[in-house]
Amino acid sequence: MAGAGRCLIVLWLVTGALALWAQGVIVCGKCGREAKPGDVVCRHCQDALPKPKIDAPPPAVEPTVPVNVEAEAGRMAAILVEANVRQARDLEAKQPELSLCYYQNAMALMRLVTAGKFPAAAGAAILDGNTRLLTLLQRGAVPCRRCGGSGRYQLDLGKVDRSKGLKAVDGVPCTACKGAGAVPGFKDVSKAKMQILQGRTEFERRQMVAGDVKVGRVWVPPALEKLLTIRQRALLMTGLPLPCRDCQQTTRQTCTACRGSGWKPCDFEACDHGVLKETRRTGARKEKRLNEEAVKKCPRCDGLGEIPCPLCKGNGSVACSKCAGSGLAPRCTRCTATGLLPCKKCKGTGDVKGEPCPECKGETLMLCPSCRGEGSLSR
Ligand SMILES: [Zn+2]
Ligand SMILES: [Zn+2]
Ligand SMILES: [Zn+2]
Ligand SMILES: [Zn+2]
Ligand SMILES: [Zn+2]
Ligand SMILES: [Zn+2]
Ligand SMILES: [Zn+2]
Repeated sequence: MAGAGRCLIVLWLVTGALALWAQGVIVCGKCGREAKPGDVVCRHCQDALPKPKIDAPPPAVEPTVPVNVEAEAGRMAAILVEANVRQARDLEAKQPELSLCYYQNAMALMRLVTAGKFPAAAGAAILDGNTRLLTLLQRGAVPCRRCGGSGRYQLDLGKVDRSKGLKAVDGVPCTACKGAGAVPGFKDVSKAKMQILQGRTEFERRQMVAGDVKVGRVWVPPALEKLLTIRQRALLMTGLPLPCRDCQQTTRQTCTACRGSGWKPCDFEACDHGVLKETRRTGARKEKRLNEEAVKKCPRCDGLGEIPCPLCKGNGSVACSKCAGSGLAPRCTRCTATGLLPCKKCKGTGDVKGEPCPECKGETLMLCPSCRGEGSLSR
């Protein structure tokens, strides 16, 4: 029992010392004597004492001031932005279609982050990532038509002997692609569309597994979703607008004139599969025709027998007519794509009969009923 008592005394002494330390040592500025904690004037010279140098310990109870919910959502969004960008970077090389979704999610969440939280370059890097990946998925190297993708010069033996076809010549690079076998162009629209949709499906699957929820097309943890104000909800949703239903962000549609090949048979009158008809008269001796550059090449198609499709300029696709090449669904005109309208209940005043509006909780806003706050229309 004596031991326990001593322990209590020690504990009391330690607590007392800690309290003293916590409140800081105060010394009278006039006489230099140490004052007792809590004293306002010096016990020796009655001079006013300075305030403790060390800040008062934080209060044990939670502050009664309500937490700024919007700011809290902003803080959570900032953490998510960083996580999304990290994922996007990791996936960029191997799964660009999935990486794109992380960049786009980050792009929307960025709208909730307080200005100045991230350096301006961080926001720009996210936008760049989105543009870079969309371009990568829409455009790319397409096989060279002239050499059939071999990159080698093609000698058309068919011009000498109809039973023979093209023969690639080793060591001589194709003049059209300079030996690369491919030229820059638009990817096949249906393949690009498929790749983008597959990326989206995989992204949604991952977010669902992680237990996240959707706000429009943006995925967030339920804890953040609960905090969102009406304004923040619309900001998020309009930050990731619906894609064009027809082109799914590829911005293109297959050219109907050439059925996507980008090429049409040469329309030069005298051209017969790249050879001018009138030159055929040298006829009789085959070995001679081999020597003179397979007789006369058609000047329009340069002997290829085909010309780039005039409608799509050889791309095989044209700008999507549904979205005029934006890749996005039509904007909602009712809310001018903001996703927000003045609250119907309180007519945008924020209160009803002197009480905060029960619908908008005083926020004065409501989500646009036409687009459900997404700012764009699915049909
Ligand atoms: Zn004093
Ligand atoms: Zn080529
Ligand atoms: Zn479109
Ligand atoms: Zn075409
Ligand atoms: Zn021709
Ligand atoms: Zn209201
Ligand atoms: Zn709307």
